[in-house]
Amino acid sequence: MQHATMSHSTNRLLVFDDDPGMCSLVEDIASSVGYTARSVNSSDEFFQLFGNFRPDVIVLDLNLKGSDGIDHLRFIAENNSRAKILIVSGVDNRTLSSAERLGRSVGLDMLGSLRKPFDIDVLEALLNGALTPDVVDIDSELPLAIETNQLLLHYQPKFTLQADGGARLHGVEALVRWQHPQSGLRFPDEFIPTAEKSGLILPLTEIVLRQAMERMVEWSAGGLDLTVGVNIPARMVNDARFPDRVFALLSEFALPPDRLTLEITERDVMTNTETAMANLTRLRIKGIELSVDDFGTGHSSLVQLYRMPFNELKIDKSFVMDCENNDEARTIVEIITTLGHKLGMVVCAEGVETLPTWRYLQELGCQRAQGYLMSRPIPGEDIAGFARDFSPPA
Ligand code: C2E
Ligand code: CA
Ligand code: CA
Repeated sequence: MQHATMSHSTNRLLVFDDDPGMCSLVEDIASSVGYTARSVNSSDEFFQLFGNFRPDVIVLDLNLKGSDGIDHLRFIAENNSRAKILIVSGVDNRTLSSAERLGRSVGLDMLGSLRKPFDIDVLEALLNGALTPDVVDIDSELPLAIETNQLLLHYQPKFTLQADGGARLHGVEALVRWQHPQSGLRFPDEFIPTAEKSGLILPLTEIVLRQAMERMVEWSAGGLDLTVGVNIPARMVNDARFPDRVFALLSEFALPPDRLTLEITERDVMTNTETAMANLTRLRIKGIELSVDDFGTGHSSLVQLYRMPFNELKIDKSFVMDCENNDEARTIVEIITTLGHKLGMVVCAEGVETLPTWRYLQELGCQRAQGYLMSRPIPGEDIAGFARDFSPPA
């Protein structure tokens, strides 16, 4: 069925530039035009995300650290990608056109080239023209995806920061992906909102909990005892059957409750019904860890926060990602850290992308960190290898 879903675009765009400012500019423009956009700063990340994300449009810089972009054009061609390629670079126009010709000669669908600094309107128009009507109708295909096991988990490592500047792997956060049979790997921002509206979020969360626990058992058998964080929607927190369901799963897999962390966004926490309160208290009494996710974006009052039995506060990644270059973001990170500590909670910073941010958090006394600097979310089978090879960023 040919169907255009405007709100959950299935057009994916990948920017590869070693300048993070350029990445976010292109990402912002692409999102405003209707793409699901991602960016990478290094070749390794590019090769990894290229396979996972399967972009429809690639925006490629030619002057990259340790490479000239031509390697990447070849790589894209060798992988039989049908992505449209836009070259954006500071090199002169003749070099740009010759790179474009080269791309065509290896069979790539070249969208064109733009010389930096470029006119934003021109980029916008080019990206607009490259949008294809969506062929995946998220709303109607999600029920089948759930029934036929198309959902899988990636895991993002989460670390405990140590006073001596070191760090150790503490656990992982489970993040759901949808392996669509035709269109490849889809990210949760495309289908979680739909699932929440339709109620499918309940069976989805059940699948996530079960898959995560299966993995935990497998990791434990290999000597790796990790905590696993699972994202829990408001609907579930407000369902009186929820705690018993979690207890039953934990005993089915013979897992200690303190190895499971339930992450609930600050927004959802504030729905604050009596049932939610009773559920959270029951879960916490059993020893399950409770984490307030995306803290700083909702509007919780201190009293509400104080009353709830949470033991971890996760600072929203928007503040953490900005804190290197923005005084206000840094102030927010500091205040949330102090607040969490005063309330006896462990504070976790999410969205750590740079070494200065990592060091700053360590100085601040923030105990946990998660982010692309250490690792992107990766498949479950890669976690043991990651744990073996990990050394703290330095
Ligand atoms: P979240 O719970 O805040 O999860 C963290 C998201 O931030 C993940 O995106 C992760 O890849 C991304 N992230 C982590 N570190 C960095 C970083 O350093 N830089 C940047 N730019 N991003 C970083 P992902 O996997 O696309 O998930 C997006 C959201 O989808 C999650 O946000 C969560 O709200 C939702 N979600 C994911 N899995 C599930 C699930 O199983 N159930 C429910 N209900 N929601 C889920
Ligand atoms: Ca989360
Ligand atoms: Ca979060």
